[in-house]
Amino acid sequence: MQKGSIRVQTENIFPIIKKFLYSEHDIFLRELISNAVDATQKLKTLSSIGEAKGEIGDLSVVISLDAEAKTLTISDKGVGMTGEEVDKYINQVAFSGAEEFLNKYKGQNENNIIGHFGLGFYSSFMVSDKVEIITRSFRESPAVRWECDGSPEYQLEETTKEQRGTDIVLHINEESQEFLEADRIKAVLNRFCRFLPVPIFFEGEQVNNPTPAWTRKPSELTPEDYQAFYKELYPYNEAPLFWIHLNVDYPFNLTGILYFPKIKQSYEIQKDKIQLYSNQVFVTDEVKDIVPEFLMLLQGVIDSPDIPLNVSRSYLQGDPNVKKINNHITKKVADKLEEIFNKNRKEFEDKWESLGLFVKYGMMTDDKFLEKAEKFHIMQDAAGTEFYTLEEYKNATVALQKNKDGKQVIIYATDPVQQNTFIKAATDKGYKVVKLETIVDAAFINQMEMKWSDVHFTRVDADIADNLVDRQDASASVLNAEQEEQLKKLFEQQPAGLHLTVEVKGLSPDAAPVVATRPEFMRRMKDMAAVSGPM
Ligand code: ADP
Ligand code: MG
Repeated sequence: MQKGSIRVQTENIFPIIKKFLYSEHDIFLRELISNAVDATQKLKTLSSIGEAKGEIGDLSVVISLDAEAKTLTISDKGVGMTGEEVDKYINQVAFSGAEEFLNKYKGQNENNIIGHFGLGFYSSFMVSDKVEIITRSFRESPAVRWECDGSPEYQLEETTKEQRGTDIVLHINEESQEFLEADRIKAVLNRFCRFLPVPIFFEGEQVNNPTPAWTRKPSELTPEDYQAFYKELYPYNEAPLFWIHLNVDYPFNLTGILYFPKIKQSYEIQKDKIQLYSNQVFVTDEVKDIVPEFLMLLQGVIDSPDIPLNVSRSYLQGDPNVKKINNHITKKVADKLEEIFNKNRKEFEDKWESLGLFVKYGMMTDDKFLEKAEKFHIMQDAAGTEFYTLEEYKNATVALQKNKDGKQVIIYATDPVQQNTFIKAATDKGYKVVKLETIVDAAFINQMEMKWSDVHFTRVDADIADNLVDRQDASASVLNAEQEEQLKKLFEQQPAGLHLTVEVKGLSPDAAPVVATRPEFMRRMKDMAAVSGPM
């Protein structure tokens, strides 16, 4: 038997890293700035435990362009590296100093570290012919300069550098000249670095907000702060309806703020999507596998260090944390809706036009959500005056609206104006007609008939009476001539007004036998009881 360790041929692995590690080339800037942020956060940690001595001073990261030299430079004032560290962390591909740091300073490190795989730095070769590192450690040690042209050969030498920290100098290659344009860099910074935890400067201006609302304690934030953060994310949108501040640290880390945007009945598919961050670094706004599908209409930010930066679809699908995050978000959203419903029903009803879309979509697609949503899903009556939960609707229509299978019948209008006469006829009979007129309603009705086994939906312009009567019941209610005579007498003894209201189909003297539908019959009995006292 032979045992050994796999050897990697750098000549072969390099092109792979360079070409295929990241599909989007602009990611290199995110990686290098993340490293600069990590180096800065490490310095803060080491200073707080006394390992780094003296004043730490200004810690901002500066990005600069030199059009003439065709270089892009990322400078930080973080921990820097000694010559040995460059050899260990840079020359050794896929050895992550970030991981090592986290293991070494477990529990002492409140400043989150972004790095993970020890590959990020090499993404710089996607856009560079040559990369230089000029770095000086916070430890007593000479500054060093490392240089590499993307081949497995490098140079490492001592140099002079006044300030502690690291400059990464990229000599931008021919195909990537776009990264020498200030506007292009600004756009990349705006996408990936907007909320990084350390001040980032480009062309004399700070490009990031290091303490975005989601990183702060909910107790410190006012509604105005939440509104302002929403504006920061989506400057052109109307104010959101409300928001949920997520804050979990067990069994996974997750923070964030989800906003319910205002949506009109005929809404357009949202282009402002939820953004996924990892330790304040933008990862993606393709959150399909992390956020339950029905919540894709929400907006805002989710931040989880448990989701790695080089996130890929297939990775996410297999990740157990993702499923948990998904469930957690669903639960949080349901709880929040229930809370508003219970505490401030009026507000809830006022916002139903927008909320209803999420809620219905969620009920259709997520059974866990459905279970909770049954308590706060509401239907508005056709006149637009009252809202019912399913429970309330059932109570309001006791016994009157059951079909042949004993199911609760929900009578709905899809177009209250056009169906006006039907609605009137139905309400005159004491039925409760609700509006189900939005674009999700047709599908909603369909789904709910399957999910709510005791409910049947009937459109107001369908033959409601037919839907309500049970054939067996119908034959039982077929009155023979004698019975009809008796019944008529009974009715005739009642005041004239009542007679009119009971003048329904089949009760004319010349129609025999007469079918009185059960609900009609019961209603008449009830009405009579109301007029003439208990029967
Ligand atoms: P990762 O960040 O996942 O660890 P990288 O390839 O991005 O992997 O970086 C490798 C290592 O190089 C880092 O972990 C860190 O130790 C070191 N490093 C990279 N950039 C800097 C920097 N600007 N300052 C100090 N150390 C750095
Ligand atoms: Mg890194």
